[in-house]
Amino acid sequence: MVKIIDGKEIAKKIKNEIKEKVFILNSQGKRVPKIVVVKANNDGASESYTKSIVKVAGNLGYEAERFDLSANASVTEILNLISKLNKDDSIDGIIVQRPLPKNIMASKINESLLPEKDIDGVHPLNMGYLMMKHKGLVPSTPKAVDYVFDYEKIDLTGKKVAIVGRSDIVGKPVGMLMLNRNATVIYCHSKTKDLTSVLKNVDVVIAATGVAHLIDGNMISEGSIVIDVGINFLNGKMVGDVEFESASEVADRITPVPGGIGSITTAMLMKNLMEAYENHEG
Ligand code: NAP
Repeated sequence: MVKIIDGKEIAKKIKNEIKEKVFILNSQGKRVPKIVVVKANNDGASESYTKSIVKVAGNLGYEAERFDLSANASVTEILNLISKLNKDDSIDGIIVQRPLPKNIMASKINESLLPEKDIDGVHPLNMGYLMMKHKGLVPSTPKAVDYVFDYEKIDLTGKKVAIVGRSDIVGKPVGMLMLNRNATVIYCHSKTKDLTSVLKNVDVVIAATGVAHLIDGNMISEGSIVIDVGINFLNGKMVGDVEFESASEVADRITPVPGGIGSITTAMLMKNLMEAYENHEG
């Protein structure tokens, strides 16, 4: 019988731990962590993510502020704002929403963030730290995936893990985290030949492609662990990269969509904010 990994339950545990820490800070009369969201677009998904970050942060007892720039904001305008936020000692974490205005390179914005306030883990220094097993800020979605193995008490030593997807913000960092858990990591991507033969031979499949139902039960091995990072819409319904029904007949454990990794991601961003605050306050 497959076990469905409950992302909402995991998120609740992380948030409760944060609330306890904020409670202690308040009772000691100390400043609480502050997050700032910068948004320069008219994108609906980005707007709901921004609202959700501000709301969740507030519910946890954090301070939160959003800065809305025009969707046509220039690179100088955004960089000036980030420079001001970097210098503001009352701010612990900055997140810059995507999409950025046209013609602005994400790398330019990522590099402008103070690495210590980069709670999204997008600065090249934080990416590099991850490769070196250094204590940097890890992007929240990969960190959410990583946390599931702690929560579920799954030892990956010597296990074969296939990551399907190699983006800078999800696939690549997830692979690094799995490597740090002593797994044997295989990266798959759109040029991978015969994905099924790869997935049939691994213990864990982590899907992060953005292709709805790319992977089904016929492509995975009996008793495998399936982590679905994908968020896609099919006939108006949110679905993952994995076809849940058929995969759950074969897998030992599986994360659902919705209610899986997506639920843990915002909690992880909030955990990163607390980490940034603790480093900041020494
Ligand atoms: P992305 O930048 O578009 O990268 C997609 C990756 O999937 C690429 O490496 C691509 O290969 C690979 N791919 C595409 N089609 C494939 C196929 N047919 N077979 C094998 N690999 C294929 O996407 P992303 O930003 O990493 O996001 C991936 C998914 O995660 C999306 O559904 C996104 O919505 C979701 N997501 C979820 C969260 C969360 O909180 N749960 C957060 C962020 C993203 P190439 O490199 O060869 O093009």
